[in-house]
Amino acid sequence: MLKHNLGYPRIGIQRELKKACEAYWSKKIDYNALFEVGKKIRDKNWKIQNKAGLDLIPCNDFSFYDHVLDMSLLLGVIPESYISIPVIHNNIDLYFSMARGFQKNGWDIKAMEMTKWFNTNYHYIVPEFDKNQKFSIFSKKIFYELEESKKILKSVKKIKPVLIGPVSYLFLGKEKEKSFHKMDLIENLVPIYIKIINEIKKKGVHWIQLDEPILVLDMSEKEKKVFKYAYKEISKFCYGINIMLTSYFDGMSENIDLLQDISVQGVHIDLVEDSNQLEKILSFFSGKSKMILSLGIIDGRNIWKNNYADSIRKIEKTIESIGENRIMIAPNCSLLHVPIDIEYENSIHMEIKNRMSFAKQKIYELNDLEKIIKGDKRILLSNSYLLEKSFFSSIFYDKKIKEKITKITNQDIQRENHFHIRQKKQKKKFHLPMFPTTTIGSFPQTREIRSLRNLFRKKKLSEEEYNEKIKSFIIDVIKKQEEIDLDVLVHGEFERTDMVEYFSEKLKGILSTENGWVQSYGSRCVKPPVIYGDVSRIDDMTVEWTCFAQSQTKKLMKGMLTGPVTILQWSFVRNDQPISHTAYQIAWAIREEVLSLEKSGIQIIQIDEPAIREGLPLKKKNWKSYFDWSIKAFRISSCGVKDETQIHTHMCYSEFNDIFQHIADLDADVITIESSRSKMELLKAFSDFYYPNEMGPGVYDIHSPRIPSVEEMFDLIKKASIKLPIENIWVNPDCGLKTRKWQEVLSSLYNMTKAAKMARLKLINSYK
Ligand code: GLN
Ligand code: ZN
Repeated sequence: MLKHNLGYPRIGIQRELKKACEAYWSKKIDYNALFEVGKKIRDKNWKIQNKAGLDLIPCNDFSFYDHVLDMSLLLGVIPESYISIPVIHNNIDLYFSMARGFQKNGWDIKAMEMTKWFNTNYHYIVPEFDKNQKFSIFSKKIFYELEESKKILKSVKKIKPVLIGPVSYLFLGKEKEKSFHKMDLIENLVPIYIKIINEIKKKGVHWIQLDEPILVLDMSEKEKKVFKYAYKEISKFCYGINIMLTSYFDGMSENIDLLQDISVQGVHIDLVEDSNQLEKILSFFSGKSKMILSLGIIDGRNIWKNNYADSIRKIEKTIESIGENRIMIAPNCSLLHVPIDIEYENSIHMEIKNRMSFAKQKIYELNDLEKIIKGDKRILLSNSYLLEKSFFSSIFYDKKIKEKITKITNQDIQRENHFHIRQKKQKKKFHLPMFPTTTIGSFPQTREIRSLRNLFRKKKLSEEEYNEKIKSFIIDVIKKQEEIDLDVLVHGEFERTDMVEYFSEKLKGILSTENGWVQSYGSRCVKPPVIYGDVSRIDDMTVEWTCFAQSQTKKLMKGMLTGPVTILQWSFVRNDQPISHTAYQIAWAIREEVLSLEKSGIQIIQIDEPAIREGLPLKKKNWKSYFDWSIKAFRISSCGVKDETQIHTHMCYSEFNDIFQHIADLDADVITIESSRSKMELLKAFSDFYYPNEMGPGVYDIHSPRIPSVEEMFDLIKKASIKLPIENIWVNPDCGLKTRKWQEVLSSLYNMTKAAKMARLKLINSYK
């Protein structure tokens, strides 16, 4: 039974990679210094994994920006516009210009598109294919790192280079024009993979890992055909080296038959996300005499200690069925998605910390499992004892909250009256004009505000001083909004660094780590909170700021909260109870805050749920249960209010067309949603589906510094008014404004309110 790993975090324990990249981009260091940092991180990662006793250690899992972009460079998939920048002389600058765009010396080339890596919070650079896309071996990174790893690990047998497999690589990309199907490029692509694999073989490597996460999706017939073709070719032309096909993020048993006539030497399955697949996989494997099965049993996406008893059961079942020699054990996926080392956390309560495990600890867990299999039952016992002990600890368990959740009734998740009745009451009470204008919540976060929060956090500023300062920002932002003549105002969110962190720090049962960084994209890292116990609200979280803001204006002030699904989605979630229970607990805490805001006189409350779309399971068969609990959670948080209190929600990304029914089921009075980048593409969905409540399809793209004109925003409102009843339309930007500069925001919002006024003049009469 060999132990291996699919990938190790590459940002460095002190986020060295981030710092080095940013210094390089701002020309503070040269590329030699940058490469030196990369090399140090790789060396350290290999040494750690080697010391921990892994039998196979990944290589080429390091990346300066993104491993999918690395693949594009390896395969020569470089759009013409980047190649033709004559001032770029080396691959690393070419690489970064693809990732970040190139605006210098009169050039203005946009960055390549970025999107989410499956259902994780990691983002990759989308490969872009031409109709006649040619592939070649362009970058030598993988060979270079291979040589390096040989020096560190001393034994070439331990090295396992990692590549994204050809089918998943094509799947992750997009066609530049509509005249062809990306999957048809497989015939051009496979020969290059064969070449690469054979080059690697020449170095004496025994195993190579080809990641094919496409295997866990609902594959189309075409994708299946392409998959079979690709791996038949690869098995025909690559021998003398073992190929480990890895699947992760869900089960792959639905697609196991694709491997029927393919002679890869190993297959890796994800038993954390789907342990039920084991049965079917084993029956496939018992018909194969040599193929190795790699069991993904350590959770590479969460930070909890492994449950050894559970893992041992899976291993033993597999041994019984195919024998010990045909098994490997590993984390289910790359450890890219977890922080590096729990030993760098100094302020987490010991009882909680004892149950946690980051990347380095997870590697050692494989060792423990091996020892247990070899007969050391003490390790098993102490693990079981540790996990059970916390079952009785008041740090994790709160009976009152647990009971509250079981007592949630249908009435609790139902507004008092139907939307039509609520709408009438709200219109009568608010006297808002047609096409009311508002923003999504945040306003520019200047350096001054960030340093203010920092000083306060470091206790270099007293609470009174801090509060006074925040108040002055609020007063200022209200004045600006009044000058712009917006209809529903916000307080600006200046007291929040991050929309999830702010609430997680105030809720019981959630903690923030000191150094638990995880790569989100490129040099950007996030520090997800840890939901470790039963969650409850101790005190008001936003009421004071919101009420202060309301007291400064006669206009309506919108309260601003983060929704339960988003808090959950952007945190590490406890794994000792169903996710729905955790969601309902958070939802109940948000509900209490909503009610407290209402009681304090706030009449409009927004519950942001930007992460609802990204939490969607990879397989369609699992969508229903996801929507069941996520919609219920939102409704728990939002349905306690009176008819006259208006609930808003906000979502980023406009790809909602396939889930609109579910969005409607949230029953928010108003939803604001991204739409301007796609020129109201969103509204297409309304040909088949009638969205019943009010909606503000974003009319200006906040992701760009561009100031949209009155006319173009008016045109978008007009487009919306053809598809939606005009009394249901709101006018607002696509998303929060915190990343923008004040000057851009003021001009854009000024144009936006003008466009709304124009709509009141020109569109109302023509529809009446
Ligand atoms: N209210 C938040 C803001 O404006 C919403 C952020 C988001 O949609 N991601 O910043
Ligand atoms: Zn948004």
